[in-house]
Amino acid sequence: MGLVIDKEKCVGCRACELACSFYHVKEFCPENSNIRIFFTDDGDVEIDISGNCNCSGKDEPLCVKFCPTQALTYLDG
Ligand code: SF4
Ligand code: SF4
Repeated sequence: MGLVIDKEKCVGCRACELACSFYHVKEFCPENSNIRIFFTDDGDVEIDISGNCNCSGKDEPLCVKFCPTQALTYLDG
């Protein structure tokens, strides 16, 4: 259960970082996001999900809602 990523679909836009931080602290601040996007020296996208990531029981998480490529899915229950 929880946030599932289809890494093949992720384009590294970082919208999910902004959405998560806005949801939780009402700021567009990636440092406060429970999902973080990084780029390797080779240009690949790396996705790090914090242990604090938990939108269980809530409406569709904003990170999922605003991901433009449907790379994120939240499995609840
Ligand atoms: S599921 Fe919720 S806590 Fe986890 S990254 Fe998305 S918005 Fe943030
Ligand atoms: S919003 Fe979606 S496509 Fe953009 S960085 Fe996040 S997971 Fe990747």
